[in-house]
Amino acid sequence: MTTCKDPHRHAPHFTNLPDDQGGKGRHKCAGCAYEKGYQDGLQLKESINLDLDTLPDSQAGTVRHKSPHYAYALGYQQGVADYYA
Ligand SMILES: [Zn+2]
Repeated sequence: MTTCKDPHRHAPHFTNLPDDQGGKGRHKCAGCAYEKGYQDGLQLKESINLDLDTLPDSQAGTVRHKSPHYAYALGYQQGVADYYA
């Protein structure tokens, strides 16, 4: 499994995400989930699919053990907002 090396791992706004307490997304990069959600939102995708298995793992930074589901939803919302901006 690939491990995320992106600088978004240390983005301070991810510290507010809820922790994923042992769920399936616990080791996935919430930063990558956010960006995937953002792109889907920007395209106003109607059929959305988080697809956790395609996300890289994360071992460090502010995204560690954060909920990728929550991050994806935040990203989607921001993407839609930017579409209409
Ligand atoms: Zn990442």
